[in-house]
Amino acid sequence: MTTVDRPAPDARSESGRPARTPGKTVRPAKRKKGEGQWALGYREPLNANEQAKKDDHPLHVRARIENIYAHRGFASIDPGDLRGRFRWFGLYTQRKPGIDGGKTATLEPHELDDEYFMLRVRVDGGALTTEQLRVIGQISVEFARDTADVTDRQNIQLHWIRIEDVPEIWRRLEEVGLSSTEACGDCPRVILGSPVAGIAADEIIDPTPAIREIADRYVGDPEYANLPRKFKTALTGHPSQDVVPEINDVAFVGVVHPEHGPGFDLWVGGGLSTNPMFTQRLGAWIPVDEVAEAWAGVVAVFRDYGYRRLRSRARIKFLVADWGAEKFRQVLEDEYLHRKLIDGPAPETPTAPGDHVGINLQKDGNYFVGFSAIAGRTGGRALVRLAEIAEAHGSYRIRTTPMQKLLVLDVAEDKIDSLITAAKEIDLSADPTSWRRSVIACTGIEFCKLAIVETKAQAARVVSELEARLGSLDNPITVHLNGCPNSCARIQTADIGLKGQLVPGPDGSQVEGYQVHLGGGLGLDAGFGRKLRGHKVTATELPDYIERVAKAYLADRQPEERFAQ
Ligand code: SF4
Repeated sequence: MTTVDRPAPDARSESGRPARTPGKTVRPAKRKKGEGQWALGYREPLNANEQAKKDDHPLHVRARIENIYAHRGFASIDPGDLRGRFRWFGLYTQRKPGIDGGKTATLEPHELDDEYFMLRVRVDGGALTTEQLRVIGQISVEFARDTADVTDRQNIQLHWIRIEDVPEIWRRLEEVGLSSTEACGDCPRVILGSPVAGIAADEIIDPTPAIREIADRYVGDPEYANLPRKFKTALTGHPSQDVVPEINDVAFVGVVHPEHGPGFDLWVGGGLSTNPMFTQRLGAWIPVDEVAEAWAGVVAVFRDYGYRRLRSRARIKFLVADWGAEKFRQVLEDEYLHRKLIDGPAPETPTAPGDHVGINLQKDGNYFVGFSAIAGRTGGRALVRLAEIAEAHGSYRIRTTPMQKLLVLDVAEDKIDSLITAAKEIDLSADPTSWRRSVIACTGIEFCKLAIVETKAQAARVVSELEARLGSLDNPITVHLNGCPNSCARIQTADIGLKGQLVPGPDGSQVEGYQVHLGGGLGLDAGFGRKLRGHKVTATELPDYIERVAKAYLADRQPEERFAQ
């Protein structure tokens, strides 16, 4: 049986309550090997981020925004709040325009800060009503210069936000049941949920009640809002595993238990960035009404045992990699849930995660229609118009997807053609080419302070060039553009993953470009793309490079062979 190190006597959760089961034998912590785990007694902050969280709980910053900063302006903001605690409310300063990627690593943070913010609106499960979509769109038009990007975590990001406008924006969001609470920061971020939860004809189980319960019970709870680092959750009951569960910190994946029926298989420890790892199955089957409790247990394990000393090791994947699935499950059961979980089977692996683009039958006989904007870029006016178009076609529900797509639900069969025609007016396509459908991009240098290269405009250029040169492929090649090594747009799990960096240009000077990772994927092709040392491409040459790779693949492939095979 696996043994678990016991906490030092002073191990406490945020509220001061014992973090773990009282009365258990306590063994002195092995300090020399400590990585800042609270449960082993390392309560003294070991880096500046931990110190800032200890100095003042990040959730307290909201009151200062509303009562002080919004009235006194940008210059009044405490730097510790500006570059730290603001994130707990989805606010990042955006990059000052005109600073090239070569300066990203050399300038001080304050030199990169613009006086405007990115505001991330969390959309748990990607589920929006048309009323909510309209409110986001109107906020964008009034306060965000008509910006709105659908992210690959189902959020909607706005830019050019002034601190003075934040309280009014929150008021409008909260009036319709939305928020930006814990949209960023060392806390449980937006909950990825199957975009077709509760509606797909082929769904195994609807995760909606579990998504709602987690969001309602735990988002904004200080007990779960000071984690070693960010924490990403995904739930799906769809057989296409449409929420990239392999690369989340925790995932609940729909599966049918031979005795107990439909429920969820529990996976932990996935993540990308510079040390990519896939989730590991714990071999446990969780019924839908116990998902929230199991989720809270996993988060608490991470909170108490996660490595806080080095930010680069502070994700749950490192803990799971060190412990292994068996020990993680044992700690979860023994110390947090205080019961054994039910063993369960593995779900069937889909060919690839579903993106739900196009016309699809719902279980109630209506249809949902999946639309693609290029790399999730849309705008406030377009979102308002989408709400109007959906309503005019009898739909009041919208979903965002982890592939940066938008779905309109509940469409009657005789309204589909008219809906699709109307959506073209705002550049949404229900029948996109393979390129438009399979290119995603992160925020990039336009707004992101960590970026080295531009991404969104580049994605649009790539799509248009490849459509013109190669048309639409019957077997799409996924292309993911990232502005830096952080992998927000999942570099390592694309057929062609592009990591933004400076590369030698034709005259030898450093220009914007990408390190290429080839052959990554999820589902049946789950694997991390290989970083090919010689494959660095300038931004200018990118369409030529992708065209060459695509042509080589098309020339050699067997019928039905996928790119990653
Ligand atoms: Fe910014 Fe890098 Fe993430 Fe892109 S991958 S959004 S550039 S941090």
